[in-house]
Amino acid sequence: RRKTHPIHRHKLELKSYKKPYNCDGCKELGFGARYRCDKCNFDLHQDCMLAAPIAHHDFFKNSTFKIFHQPQDFQRYCYACGKPVRGFHYHCEKEGWDLHPCCRNLPNNLPIENIKFKLRNKVSSKCIWCKKKNLEGTVSGIRGWSYVSECKEYHFHVHCAMDMVIDGWRNGAFNNQDGNSLAALENLELPVLRQHLSGNRRSSSKFTKVVKIVFKTIVGILLGDPTVVLTGLLVDVVAN
Ligand SMILES: [Zn+2]
Ligand SMILES: [Zn+2]
Ligand SMILES: [Zn+2]
Ligand SMILES: [Zn+2]
Repeated sequence: RRKTHPIHRHKLELKSYKKPYNCDGCKELGFGARYRCDKCNFDLHQDCMLAAPIAHHDFFKNSTFKIFHQPQDFQRYCYACGKPVRGFHYHCEKEGWDLHPCCRNLPNNLPIENIKFKLRNKVSSKCIWCKKKNLEGTVSGIRGWSYVSECKEYHFHVHCAMDMVIDGWRNGAFNNQDGNSLAALENLELPVLRQHLSGNRRSSSKFTKVVKIVFKTIVGILLGDPTVVLTGLLVDVVAN
C-alpha cells in the first residue's frame, strides 16, 4: 500500500476518504481513494500514481503516448475532456495529442442502471447537458469524448459531466459537516435540471431521472475512484 513516486520524496500510502482533494500530479479534482503523504498534505490520483511510462489508446491507433510530469511549454488541452493540461499528462509527440491520466483510463463501457453507455470520440446526437454535438468554448479541433447510450437517445460529453461534478463540488455537495460528505449530493440542484424542469413535465421527470443516474455513476470515475457510489442519489431516484 506504500509506494514511492519520483516527484515526491516520501512514500505515499493508498488511503480512502470521502473528501475531495486536488491531485498534486494532474492538478485536477479527486475524490475517494488516493495515494497520500500526510506529512506534506500531498495527494495523487491512483491513475496518476500508477500511470505507465508508455501508453496507447484505442481512439488513437498506431500512436504512442508518453507520461510527462510537467506541463508542456505552451498550453495544451486534453483530447478527452477538453480541459487544459496543468500537470501530469500523456503526450503523443508525433501527433501532439494530450490526455489526462484519469481521462486515458475512462472505461469504454459504462453501464448506468439498465442503460449501456459507450465511450465515443465521434457523436451524431446532441449532448443532454450542453445541447451541442461537439464541444464549444474549447480549443478548435477538440471535439471531446462522449458517452453514448446504446439506444443513441442519450449522450453526454465527458467535459460536461466534469463541469457538473465541479459545479456540485463548488456548491458544497462534497463537504457538509456531519461527516457524510456525500449526503448533500442528494439535494444538489444541478443547474441543468432547473433549465429542463421549466419545460414539458413528463419528459422532464424522465430527463431528471437519467441525469441523476448518470451523475451518480460517473462522479467516481471522473474523480479517479470508480468504487465511489452515491447512494443518496439512488434513494432519491427510486423514491420518485
Ligand atoms: Zn491526478
Ligand atoms: Zn511528503
Ligand atoms: Zn482530460
Ligand atoms: Zn456537452
